[in-house]
Amino acid sequence: MKTLEWDENLLKKYNVSGPRYTSYPTALEFSTDYQASDYLQSLKDLQPDQTLSLYIHIPFCQNICYYCACNKIITKDKTSALAYIENITKEISIIAHHTQAKTVRQIHWGGGTPTYLSIQQIAHIMSVIRKHFIVPEEDNTEISIEVDPRTLAPSDVSRLAELGFNRMSLGVQDFDLKVQQSINRVQSFESSQELILAARKANFQSINIDLIYGLPFQTKQTFDATLEKISQLSADRISIFNYAHLPHRFKPQRRINSKELPSPITKLKIFESIISRLQSYGYLYIGMDHFAKPQDELAIAQKNHQLHRNFQGYTTHPEYQLIGIGVSSISAIGDSYHQNVRDIKSYYEALEKNELPSWRGAQISRDDKIRRSVIFELICHFQLDKQAIEKNFQIDFDTYFCNELKLLEPFVTDQLLQLTPTNIEVTIKGRLLIRTICMVFDAYFNEMLNISSYSKII
Ligand code: SF4
Repeated sequence: MKTLEWDENLLKKYNVSGPRYTSYPTALEFSTDYQASDYLQSLKDLQPDQTLSLYIHIPFCQNICYYCACNKIITKDKTSALAYIENITKEISIIAHHTQAKTVRQIHWGGGTPTYLSIQQIAHIMSVIRKHFIVPEEDNTEISIEVDPRTLAPSDVSRLAELGFNRMSLGVQDFDLKVQQSINRVQSFESSQELILAARKANFQSINIDLIYGLPFQTKQTFDATLEKISQLSADRISIFNYAHLPHRFKPQRRINSKELPSPITKLKIFESIISRLQSYGYLYIGMDHFAKPQDELAIAQKNHQLHRNFQGYTTHPEYQLIGIGVSSISAIGDSYHQNVRDIKSYYEALEKNELPSWRGAQISRDDKIRRSVIFELICHFQLDKQAIEKNFQIDFDTYFCNELKLLEPFVTDQLLQLTPTNIEVTIKGRLLIRTICMVFDAYFNEMLNISSYSKII
């Protein structure tokens, strides 16, 4: 892949807030009109030959990170996990009871902090999954876990491997001590290094590191030093998120002093350095916030035109039906999205009555499906074959998207896009602005009252 091109003026011009498009429509459009009975029906409609991907949400964390925008529960009292484990295993058995699809080839544990649980507790949940579903013990069964280097000992990594885990994502954010103190997340470089060495020894197939830029006290120099250290860890994937300071929405962020945040110019310099340094370390830009080594399956899937998008970001298996388990988790089954309740009390109450803990969802319309195909294709591959969309949906692309094609004209003038009679091609210069380009095809976006719900590109 050619290297990314950097154009400061265009980035400033198109630097608007927008969704990351892990679904379309986005979760903001989900409605409580979509009920537990709709979700139940979508589970019943699954066929025995369909493959499942399970997302297991563990909401607990021991300490609060001040930048956090997740749905989590901060507690040092480990007994809180006991009731949760009881309920999450009950949810697994209810779901299994209602679906004929039993083969699971992908399990992702996220949070909160999954490693808040002990290895024995994780083993127990995995045994319940294996009791109700078939999880083939093959290399291509992906079992991944988000780990916090502050709560997982390197000696536990081999035990995770014994349970079938073969992918790991480490939350790092920044190695600079002053930045770490300002966000209440102090962790050493060595703790991450030891975990990664242990994971390599235990044959983990892919290791990801999460970083955040735009945090208090970050400068180009401090973040360059973090990136230097990151290069020594040689992770397969790196995700770098832009910190969105939205203290009116996320209470923990009120503990961040906005005067200590880097200026927009400093953020631009950090962002520029991220792009050039990661490319010089051998990473390819996959899209949005993600970079991967050329031999990583994400990069290979992108090269083979098999990349897709779901609630976990990029994925290599669009055909898998995603079932979210745990408080606030989201499912994507067939033509519907479903989300569990967000508060733990309601979650427990529903399961005590042997009911699914449903909150809201969406039945995807034909127009949603067409637009979702266009947005996911652009976000995953930076190009769109208009004829493929026409063939799939029996439409005339230029007529259907007449208004959108007009809205794309400034992007063409700024050389971010090329439009041909058969294709939309995002140029190298346009790749960093892919989210803004996708927003043109989002039928809901103009109606959104609260654009400040989303982060900007920079
Ligand atoms: S950022 Fe992650 S580890 Fe920190 S409080 Fe939020 S969910 Fe927990």
